[in-house]
Amino acid sequence: MNIGQEILNTLKEEITEVEFNRYIKHLTYDAKKSNSNSAIFYAPNAIVISWIKNKYSEKIAHLFEIKIGHKVLITITLKNRIQSKKKTEKIVEVKQQGSSLLNPSHSFSNFMVGGSNQFAYAAVKSVSENAGKVYNPLFIYGGVGLGKTHLMQAAGNVFYNEGKVVIYTTVEQFLNDFTRSIRNNTMERFREKYRKCDVLLIDDIQFLSNKEGIQEEFFHTFEALKGDGKQIIFTADKHPKKIGGLEARLQSRFEWGLVADIQPPELETKIAIIEKKCEINKVVLTKEIINYIATVIDSNVREIEGILSKLHAYSQLMHIDIDLEFTKNVLKDQMSEKRANIDMDTITQYVAKDLNIKPSEIKSKGRSKNIVYARRISIFICRELTKNTMPQLAQYFGMKDHTAISHTIKKINDLIKEDEDFRLKIEELTNKITASS
Ligand code: ADP
Ligand code: MG
Repeated sequence: MNIGQEILNTLKEEITEVEFNRYIKHLTYDAKKSNSNSAIFYAPNAIVISWIKNKYSEKIAHLFEIKIGHKVLITITLKNRIQSKKKTEKIVEVKQQGSSLLNPSHSFSNFMVGGSNQFAYAAVKSVSENAGKVYNPLFIYGGVGLGKTHLMQAAGNVFYNEGKVVIYTTVEQFLNDFTRSIRNNTMERFREKYRKCDVLLIDDIQFLSNKEGIQEEFFHTFEALKGDGKQIIFTADKHPKKIGGLEARLQSRFEWGLVADIQPPELETKIAIIEKKCEINKVVLTKEIINYIATVIDSNVREIEGILSKLHAYSQLMHIDIDLEFTKNVLKDQMSEKRANIDMDTITQYVAKDLNIKPSEIKSKGRSKNIVYARRISIFICRELTKNTMPQLAQYFGMKDHTAISHTIKKINDLIKEDEDFRLKIEELTNKITASS
C-alpha cells in the first residue's frame, strides 16, 4: 500500500464513518507525482476539496509528519487540473510552519527564568542539547500553569528543528489513540508510531493513575525507547511518588533519570513574564500596571494571559485606554472570583436553573440547542471561576478531550466579542454565582 493510502486509512480511524464515506473516501493519492516533500491527492469535485481544506488538510499534513518525520506540502486538486500542469490551479496547499504538534511560541527564549523555575529550566535545556544522553527520562512536576508544558515543548521545538521525529502527546491522547488502535486492530501501527520516534514528550502523567491497561502499554513504550537511547520527557502535577495508582515498575522508572520541580514564580519573575507576554501579544502596559497585575495574581501564570486578553478586549470594546483604574476594575471580579471556592456542581446547577433545564442535561450528551448553549456557558464559567484543568473539565462535562473544551472556550470568547447581550448574560451569571458562594 502506498503511503498516501496509509495516511487516509489512519485518518479513517480518527473521523466518523459518515464523514469518511462522504468525502475522504473519494481522495486518491498520486504516488508517481508525489515525493518525500510533496503529497498530491485528487478529489472528484470542488465541494470535496473545499470541505477537506476546511476540516482535514491540517490533519492529513500532521499524519504525514508523524509518519515520515518531517513536513510535507499537501496538494489536493482536481485530477485533470494537475495534468495540465498549471501551477495556479492547485487548489489546496497546506504549508506547515512548525511541527503541528508543538506550539512554536513555546520556546526557550520566551520562557522567563527565575529562582522558582531555574532548576527545571536548566534540566530541560541540558536535555535539549544532549538528547538521550544526560537525564533520561526527565520528569518535570509542579502546579497548574507554571510552565511545564511550555518547557517541555521548548525542548521539543529544538529537537524538531534538528530534524528529529518528535511526538508530543497528553496521557489522554495517548489513551485515546491506544483504545482506538485496539478497536480497529491497528496496534502494530500504534507501536510503530510511539516506539520509533526520536523523542517522546508526554504531558500530565498523573492521568495514568489507576488506568491499568494503558500503564502496561506505556511501560513497554518506555522500555523500547529507553533501550534505544531515545529521549523521553514527562510532566505531572506532582512528584511521581505522590501520584498513586501507578504500577511500581512504572513509578520507579519515572525516577530513573532526573525529577525536577517548578515552583510558583516570585514577583520579579512574574513581572518578567508579564512583560514578555505583552511583547508577544502586542499589548502596551505601563510599568505601574504590570507591577499591579503581578502583585494581584497568584501563582498561575496562565491567568496572566487571560488578564491581558481581557484588558485588551475590554479596552477595544469600550474605546478606553488601559490605565491603572481601568485595570483594577477589570481585575476586581477576577480576584474575588478566585478567592471564592466555587465548584463545578454549583456552576452547572446555577446555569441550569437560570436557563430552565436540568443540571444532568448539561452533563449529558444531549445535542439540542438549549442544552448545548447551557453546556457551553457552564464550561466557560467553570474555566473562569475554578481551577480545574481542561482535561478535568472534559471529564466532568463528558466531552471527548481538552481540545473540545478549548474549542468551546474560544467560541464563547468570540461570541463575547461580537455580541454585547451575550457578554452581559455571561457577566450576570458569573456575578450571581460568585455573589452566592
Ligand atoms: P503547565 O503545563 O505547567 O500547566 P503551561 O506550560 O501551559 O503550564 O503554562 C501556562 C502559560 O504560562 C503558558 O502560556 C506559558 O507560556 C506561560 N508561562 C509559564 N511559565 C512561564 C515563564 N516562566 N515564562 C513565560 N511564560 C510562562
Ligand atoms: Mg500543561
